[in-house]
Amino acid sequence: MNLPIVAIVGRPNVGKSTLFNRLAGERLAIVDDTPGTTRDRLFAESDWNGRRFHIVDTGGIDPTSGSSKSPLSISSKEYIQEIRNQAMAAVQEADAILLLVDAISGITPADLEVTELLRARQLKREGQPWPPILLVVNKADNQKFRENAVEFYQLGLGEPYPISAVHGTGTGDLLDALVATFPNTKDAEDDNSVKIAIVGIPNAGKSSLLNRLVGEDRAIVSSIAGTTRDAVDTPMMFNDIPITLIDTAGIRRRGKVEHGVEQYSVLRSMHAIERCDVALLMIDATKEISAQDTHIAGFIQEAGKSAVVLVNKWDAIEKDTFTIEDFKTNIRRALNFMDYVPIQFISALTGQRVEKVLPLALEVQEERMVRLGTSAFNRILMRAQDAHSPASKTGRILKIYYGTQVRSDPPTFILYVNEPKLAHFTYLRYLENCIRKEYPYTGTPIRLVLKGRG
Ligand code: GDP
Ligand code: GDP
Repeated sequence: MNLPIVAIVGRPNVGKSTLFNRLAGERLAIVDDTPGTTRDRLFAESDWNGRRFHIVDTGGIDPTSGSSKSPLSISSKEYIQEIRNQAMAAVQEADAILLLVDAISGITPADLEVTELLRARQLKREGQPWPPILLVVNKADNQKFRENAVEFYQLGLGEPYPISAVHGTGTGDLLDALVATFPNTKDAEDDNSVKIAIVGIPNAGKSSLLNRLVGEDRAIVSSIAGTTRDAVDTPMMFNDIPITLIDTAGIRRRGKVEHGVEQYSVLRSMHAIERCDVALLMIDATKEISAQDTHIAGFIQEAGKSAVVLVNKWDAIEKDTFTIEDFKTNIRRALNFMDYVPIQFISALTGQRVEKVLPLALEVQEERMVRLGTSAFNRILMRAQDAHSPASKTGRILKIYYGTQVRSDPPTFILYVNEPKLAHFTYLRYLENCIRKEYPYTGTPIRLVLKGRG
């Protein structure tokens, strides 16, 4: 599902992180526990009256300042530039903006600066409506400050919402107003096309690949803009199979705004991944494989989606006999938690091997839908246990009585065992390998669920 993206913008020290944490509540851990992810807190999921949304913390993670947490050490000139950047990125990437100001300090030059920018509407948003902006007067901890909040009317951004992020007061009215700005989400996901998302870090070549794939096929029906900014779906027919390409490039050209868009691009990838069956993970061959790449791969796996790794810009690599193997080794190492993914080397620029991309994605989709017969599956389990019985430190040994595949999409197996706690991660990994030896489920994560007797 596409959750609306809400950016929290404002100068340092107005309470952006405090508000972020309050809104994020328990759900902060969204990027944790995912293989290969960094623990940067980029965004979190929140909801109000059942309307879910993502909030983006635009402060404190700015790579160029590195010091936005200690505003005293940077000049106001520097942070004015920084909040300009934040605001520009937010305007272009978010579905709604919370502009925070500080009731205690009143209106400052930096507030004026960013307000000007947000009001001027001089930034391009490529055919998209300007995002709604809510003016939030934070640190309105008592009645006096709440009343004084009217002072902020003069910023010309409409009604100021006085809140106290620390005490949690006033946030109800704010959130009512916020969710009222969200588009009515209608679920358009129930067509039967194969959903293929093109994901990857900025500049990996996603747009170029999309253009290639779409350009080479005459059967495009139309391009439908989704309800939120990050969804541009292209339905098409390929070999008589209806597919929908989910494009995360979204905004084709970001102009000069590179700075500060990172959180949004991760979010956009996540949204696309949640909606897809197969993700095409694009990796830029001219760059070292990065934490950001593994981060996205982690989301794909976590979401139970299938994947194909596309090593793009292969034309730009000087090659000898070993190059492909070296690349593969590197990628397998970085993505060791998804060793089942096929890797394809392509050039979206020259078109090299691009014709293999969709057939490979559809092959992966087919494997995703496979159901292993129960007797075949139990033969695999039995042989696996005969070859290698589960080890045990305590003397109590895992016994697997019986197993069955309960669903496909993604393939999920239930194993009935004496005691689920006795199953060691490495043994499950071993069982997974045994299954894949018999049936590869190429590109697809498989899930093993243990059930105890009783
Ligand atoms: P950021 O730089 O915008 O992310 O601001 P922080 O969230 O780090 O907050 C800066 C300071 O303001 C911290 O000392 C917070 O405790 C304080 N603060 C945040 N919200 C409130 C509030 O509602 N009332 C008061 N009195 N202080 C607040
Ligand atoms: P996106 O941000 O992932 O959508 O990436 P783009 O498709 O906009 O591509 C980013 C840059 O990489 C552009 O300058 C492209 O021309 C270039 N590019 C994309 N694919 C290839 C490729 O296969 N080979 C080379 N050499 N450059 C490429």
